[in-house]
Parts: sequence; C-alpha cells; structure tokens
Amino acid sequence: MTAVQAIPNTTHFSVEQKEYLDGMLAGLAQRKAHPGALLQSTTTHTTTGAAAEEEEETFHGFPLSDLCKQELWKHAEHGMDGWERLMNHAREGTMPGEEDSFRLRFFGLFNVAPTQESLMLRCRIPAGEMTASQLRGMADVAELYGDGGSAITTRSNLQVRGIHPKDAVTVLMKLYAIGLTAKGSGVDNVRNITASPTAGLDAQELLDTRALAHELHHYILNHRDMYDLPRKFNVSYDGGGIIDTVADTNDIGFMAVRVETAQQGKSLLDGSTITVEPGIYFRVELAGITGHKQLASDSGIVIPVEAATSVTAAMLRVFSEHGDRTDRKKARLKYLIDQWGTEKFLSETQKKLSQPLIQLHTSQCVARPAAIKHAHLGIHSQKQKGLSYVGVYIPVGMMTAAQMKGIASLAERLGSGMLRLTPWQNLLITDVADDQVAELQAQLKLLGLTEKPSHAQGGLVACTGSRGCKYAAADTKGNAVDIGRWLDERLTLPMPVNIHLTGCPHSCAQHYVGDIGLQAVKVERDGKSVDGYNIVAGGGTGAESGIGRTVRQGVAATEAPAVVEGMLTHWMNHRQPDQSFHDFAAALSSADTLLQP
Ligand code: SF4
Repeated sequence: MTAVQAIPNTTHFSVEQKEYLDGMLAGLAQRKAHPGALLQSTTTHTTTGAAAEEEEETFHGFPLSDLCKQELWKHAEHGMDGWERLMNHAREGTMPGEEDSFRLRFFGLFNVAPTQESLMLRCRIPAGEMTASQLRGMADVAELYGDGGSAITTRSNLQVRGIHPKDAVTVLMKLYAIGLTAKGSGVDNVRNITASPTAGLDAQELLDTRALAHELHHYILNHRDMYDLPRKFNVSYDGGGIIDTVADTNDIGFMAVRVETAQQGKSLLDGSTITVEPGIYFRVELAGITGHKQLASDSGIVIPVEAATSVTAAMLRVFSEHGDRTDRKKARLKYLIDQWGTEKFLSETQKKLSQPLIQLHTSQCVARPAAIKHAHLGIHSQKQKGLSYVGVYIPVGMMTAAQMKGIASLAERLGSGMLRLTPWQNLLITDVADDQVAELQAQLKLLGLTEKPSHAQGGLVACTGSRGCKYAAADTKGNAVDIGRWLDERLTLPMPVNIHLTGCPHSCAQHYVGDIGLQAVKVERDGKSVDGYNIVAGGGTGAESGIGRTVRQGVAATEAPAVVEGMLTHWMNHRQPDQSFHDFAAALSSADTLLQP
C-alpha cells in the first residue's frame, strides 16, 4: 500500500486536520519520481480514523499524553502557520509569551528576554555565501531595527539583535527583499547548511560543495514536513578544502573522498556487489553532537555526490518518523542511532531511496587532504590565476554596521562582490586581484580590522554569552577577547591554537572541540556567585578529531586568562619540535598535566 492510500477517511477530523491532510495529499499526488528520488514521503501525523474514537490520538506515532509541550504546540498548529501571530505581536508591539516565542523561531526570530527585551533575527545563508549588497542590506537592518551590529555564528550565519517586536514583520520583509530568508533557522528544523568556505576557490578541494548546500537549502524551505522535526538538525558538506568545515560536529557530515581505482562495494538495497567507479564521492558521517561529547562517525557508506539531497531528505524523514518526541533532551539523531544502531538507521533510510546506499570501507577511499589551521585568515591564492581570497579576522564574530558596509564596499571595489562567512566566525573577501591585495589590507585597517591576527586571537570562538542569551553563565564574548588580549601581551604562540568559549551545556561554540575549551559555570568566590568556567583541552575536528578532556573546573572568569596562559606555556616548554597543542594535549595521560609549570 502506498503512503497516499494509507491516509484514512477524514470524516472524524477537525477542520485544521482536514486542511492539513488535504494539503499533504495534494503534495504527495504532485510528487514525481526522479533518479535517486525518495520512494516514500513522511508518514501521517495524526490519528487513524474510526479507531481514533477508541484509541488515544497520536502524533508521529506518539500518544498525545506522552508528547512534550513543544510537540503538542506543533500538533495544534504547524510551525509555519504562525505568521498571523507574528503580525499580531508586530501590530501590538508585544513580546511573545512562551508558546509564541517557540512559534516565532520557525520564522527565525528569537525572544531573548530577559537578557534583552527584544528579538534576535537569525538568517539562513547556505554555504555562508553572500553578496556584498546582502551584507549591506543586513547592515541597514541592524542600524534601522537592531542594535547597530551583527554577529557571525559558528554555522557561517548572521544574527542581528535588539529588534523590537513592532518591527518583526518589517525586518523579515527587508530580509526577503535582499534575497535572504530566516525560515527554519530556529527550533525543530534543519539549521543553516554549511559548506567549505573556500569552495570553488581552492586548488586543494576535491569538490565544490556550494551547489549542494544551496540545493538542500531550497529543498528544506519548500517541504513542509522539514519544519516538523523532533528537534534541530545540522548538515554540512566538506569538499576537502584547506579550511576545516567542522562537518564532523553535524548530525550529517558529508565528507568528499576520492575513489582512485574501481572498488567492490555492497548494495544496501539488495545485498548485491556493486562496482564503484573511480571518482569523487561522499562518505557519510552521522550523529555529531559535541555538546553531548560526540563527534559524527563514519557510517560505512559512500554515495554519489548528486544523491546528497535525496539521501539527506530520506535520513531526515527517518529521523522525523522515529525520533523521540517526548523528551527534548533525547530528540536528536544521536539518540535514535544509539537506540537502533547505524545499520538499522541506514536500512530504514534505504527503504526510502530508489538508488542503493553503497557500503565501502574507508580503506577503499582516499581521504581528503589535511586542512590548514587558521586558513580562514590571511591572504591565500585562489585556483583562479591572479586572484586571492583574504580571510578577515572578525573578533568573536562581532561587526558594527559601519564595518559591514565597509566590508561590502571593499568586496565590490576590490573583489567580485562576493563574501563567504566561515564557521570560525570570520569572513572571506574573495576574488581579489593580487595587485589589489595591499590596498585591501590598508582599507581593512581603516575599518579597525585585520587579516593577520595573532595565533591566539585568530582561533577565538565564542557563543553569544550573557550579553544576549539567558542560558549563559558568563560573558563568553567579552571573556574571549580578554583571554586573547592577555595572551598577546605575554606569549608568542609558535602556531595557531583554537580557544572556544561557550556559555552553557548547549555548547553553541563547541568548546569540546577547541584545542582549549571553556564552558561557563557559576563559581563561588568570597561567598559570592561569580562567572567562571570549566576548562577542557585536546579537542579537535577533522584530522585532529577528539573531545576535550577536563583540565580544571570552577575557574573564575577573571582567573581564566592566566590559567590558559599556563596551559599554553606548559605546551611550549615541553612539546616535541613542531608538535601542535592538540597533539601534545591528546598524548598526555592526564589533561591536568597542562597545569604544571
Ligand atoms: Fe546561549 Fe548556551 Fe548557546 Fe551560549 S551555548 S549561546 S549560552 S544557549
């Protein structure tokens, strides 16, 4: 029986339920098969006709009485049906309550009270690729309706804070007018799709991943069921370029690899042997969630590059149909795979695809060339002769509107008018003629920016922290800047080091994968509760993959710069020649050795 035939008689449904089912049936009827296409769409959302009179109504297979409150809200009204509510808050100038705050996130607006009595806008910028005019447009939004600046996030995205609810609709309309959107950038959706920031520029890369990031972006925007996941979901494409995309921190990380000579793989469709011809493929890594101390791990399969969107959609639907909707803490892909195992997850995914997923051992593929630490900064030749990209250091991702406009003008005047945001909270100005690079450097200085920060400053990553997030136990952005300044006054690091500060266990700045990671906690000093941190070391992504181990807990924020300095000094004094901080820390039998002189 097909999914369409399985939809029952709708006699007993409410008006909303009927409307929903009518819409879904129409969508299913219009869907046509294409090579590598999904065989099945999502399953039903509600009850089963006459049986509903006797049995408790269900949503995604869970009895309503078991659902968490957010799922009950979604059951009552689809996330993308909340525009009227948004308009009402704008008309009346009122901050949304708990439920409407949840609903506004589907449109990319976040109630950040009580930290700030205002809304935050989070865009979607697939592959972090934007035009100078879009950046200028965002600067206008920040100036006219926000707090006069923006922040680049660890998903190569932009956020603007300080938006009054009365401007909520206007801000979104402005965003749409400059060719950007914020739909699905919060709550139970696939978040901004990231890709290698140097895609298409980079002589080292195996694959330009931008088109795939844009393709998935539009797939998600145009499929209603993609806005109804059990919780958030992250997808990243790593094309093998010189900048680490941190793809292994995602729920799905697509890693470009080369198959050098024909290889024999196994079809998960029917168990047959398949010849994998030489070429570029994606290996698929699954279930990264660094806040829960887990990096994505290789699932054992390769897929043709062009199948990436279909495979992602199939995996998302398996997650949507089977993920936990009773406990938000367990409603991530990791927990479904913990429960099922990777084999069952792949087998359920395969059922939705016409093309086989191919089992192929990692040893049958040539892994990507190593990324270069901090290649998101400085001047680098592009594969296009005579052109360079310039990686601009944006301290902890924060830019004023004036800087945004200045960068936009420089990209137009000295580059091609294109920019890339990176997951390291910085940006690239691309396509700069080699003889214009010096002029660009000089102009950046006038904007108070540089392309060559110190090795310590260049690797600082910080989440919003207590300046704008109610969960934060410390001012992560401010403390990160203090640490960078402190280190620069006292040390000259021999090579780049990444230092990540995150304000709470949600770990938006991914502290567990920093060379040094700080997670904010409240600590007691002189009988008072003050900002502080637990400190880990030895984490990393890509070739330096690892989860940081505890060095010290309960360090006051004011003490943190000196503790970090001590850890780096210990490394510099005791390392092997050319040994990176990551390798040094990972090799220690106990991470707290870093506290010794
Ligand atoms: Fe807020 Fe916590 Fe995320 Fe920092 S890590 S932005 S404090 S939720």
